[in-house]
Amino acid sequence: MSSDCIFCKIVAGEIPSETLFETDTVQVIRDINPHAPVHFLVIPKKHIATIDDLDENCDRDLIADMMFAGQETARRLGTHMDGYKLLFNVQSGGGQMVFHIHLHVLGGWQGEKPTVSFK
Ligand code: 5GP
Ligand code: ZN
Repeated sequence: MSSDCIFCKIVAGEIPSETLFETDTVQVIRDINPHAPVHFLVIPKKHIATIDDLDENCDRDLIADMMFAGQETARRLGTHMDGYKLLFNVQSGGGQMVFHIHLHVLGGWQGEKPTVSFK
């Protein structure tokens, strides 16, 4: 846990969030400022600042857990019916604002052209 990290505080229950799904290793929350009709974030419970910091030896299972949590949550919400996007912003130059890795899951366009308003 990093004491000044907003997502560590969400995982610790110190900041409220709408949790959609949870396992031992990840928490899935709805994005507070959605960039698509459906937008949720898959957050590992372990603090890792950026995708650049992933350890090839230690973090393989965690990345798999994140993907499957995204898939499961999309199924539960019905978002998988129309399809969705999976996105990592990496470092500030890649648009990353919160330095605790998170997988964006974006969808819900219901047949409309999928647009994502990330800068
Ligand atoms: P990034 O640009 O770092 O990839 O994305 C960070 C995302 O976290 C943004 O889409 C932003 O809306 C979301 N976010 C930031 N703070 C909070 C928060 O306190 N709660 C929730 N649920 N989402 C947040
Ligand atoms: Zn953190």
